[in-house]
Amino acid sequence: MDIKNKTAIVTGGASGLGKATVERYIADGANVAIFDLDEKGGQALAESLGERAIFCKVNVADEASAAAGITQVIETFGALHILNNYAGIGSACKTYGKNGPHPLDTYMKVVMVNQVGTFNMARLAAERMAANEPVNEDGVRGVIINTASVAAYEGQIGQVAYSATKGAVVGMTLPMARELASYGIRVNTIVPGLIHTPLFETVEESYYKSLEASTVFPQRLGKTSEIAALSAHIVENDYINGECIRMDAGIRMQ
Ligand code: NAD
Repeated sequence: MDIKNKTAIVTGGASGLGKATVERYIADGANVAIFDLDEKGGQALAESLGERAIFCKVNVADEASAAAGITQVIETFGALHILNNYAGIGSACKTYGKNGPHPLDTYMKVVMVNQVGTFNMARLAAERMAANEPVNEDGVRGVIINTASVAAYEGQIGQVAYSATKGAVVGMTLPMARELASYGIRVNTIVPGLIHTPLFETVEESYYKSLEASTVFPQRLGKTSEIAALSAHIVENDYINGECIRMDAGIRMQ
């Protein structure tokens, strides 16, 4: 599916991987709606990108909030063709130990955003995409791209909730792709390794260097523009469907 003149929603679009994807889609000629809780960052980004970008303050885990945002997108741009689910949080959560005021608080918070939020956005978007006329000879009506993490396959201390929810995103890829195929919607998941986002500007240099050293080749953190380019590639290649595509400079070879 050509990106040009299509309409995309990018959740988590105010920062990091989402922001880079918003900028890439705008450069490729799409209309883009930034769905984020960060009103200041999202609004400023939309304003800097001109009339083809809007900001919608949306909590992806909340049904009414997500539905209202999608309605605003349809009213503004007329249709919805692309959904990128980037909105995510990573809270330290241990199996044994206190996690917030109630033992399940932290776990449930991460589940609600990373797992439920991804499903919530996908199902509401699919309803709108299914109503599109096919946009090309393959009969494609829409493309959904979810975001997992290499953490789904790792055993880092304190990452039980994050890893579990990212594993859930991997797990929903195939059934979602299979179910939505009959509506002309492709579904894929990007599985990033360590990508340089604002998060890394706050960490100690030694920790940063150890993260870089965990990549095999090239030995550096990934760039947000590299994830954005993968996302654009997935949108434009209709033969990619039901895939979980890793982009991690080989850290799983370690
Ligand atoms: P980020 O923190 O820079 O951006 C995440 C954005 O999501 C923020 O703007 C935040 O406001 C928004 N958000 C959080 N909860 C939300 C909610 N309930 N509703 C709407 N918006 C919400 O993070 P990032 O590094 O760009 O990561 C983006 C995605 O990629 C996440 O799902 C993350 O788990 C995944 N990921 C990142 C890396 C990495 O190295 N940066 C690696 C693997 C996976």
